[in-house]
Amino acid sequence: MDTIRELYQQVIVDHNNNPRNFHTMQNPTCQAEGYNPLCGDQLVVYISLLEGVIHDISFQGHGCAISMASASLMTEFLKGKTEQQVRELFELFHAALTEQGTIDIKRLGKLAVLMGVKDFPSRIKCATLAWHAIKAAINHFNQSLSME
Ligand code: ZN
Repeated sequence: MDTIRELYQQVIVDHNNNPRNFHTMQNPTCQAEGYNPLCGDQLVVYISLLEGVIHDISFQGHGCAISMASASLMTEFLKGKTEQQVRELFELFHAALTEQGTIDIKRLGKLAVLMGVKDFPSRIKCATLAWHAIKAAINHFNQSLSME
């Protein structure tokens, strides 16, 4: 096992054991639920927007280590980003996990630790669940979202 992979594994375990921004939010600007029936992952993402910028972000729910770590990393990564940046980063993250070829993952910062999921196609939905939820949230669809 190479050390990069080991390091990535440690970050995922850490974020699963101690998820960041893991709480509900009073009066969020918008929120959306994501559900991945293939794995049983279920979470709600809350955001508070201030002039188009993510002023606060949190999530609540339960699921496998990948879905929890991904949501935790996402909330850390997106705080302070604009709605437009969130949409762009969603596309980049999604493409990095689902498309072949070279994608500049440097822009994804710490989220690169999740790229190992690419080798396990059934887990990709676990990694992208929180992202689908936030995309729905910023589009102001306060609704449930099933990943079927
Ligand atoms: Zn999962």
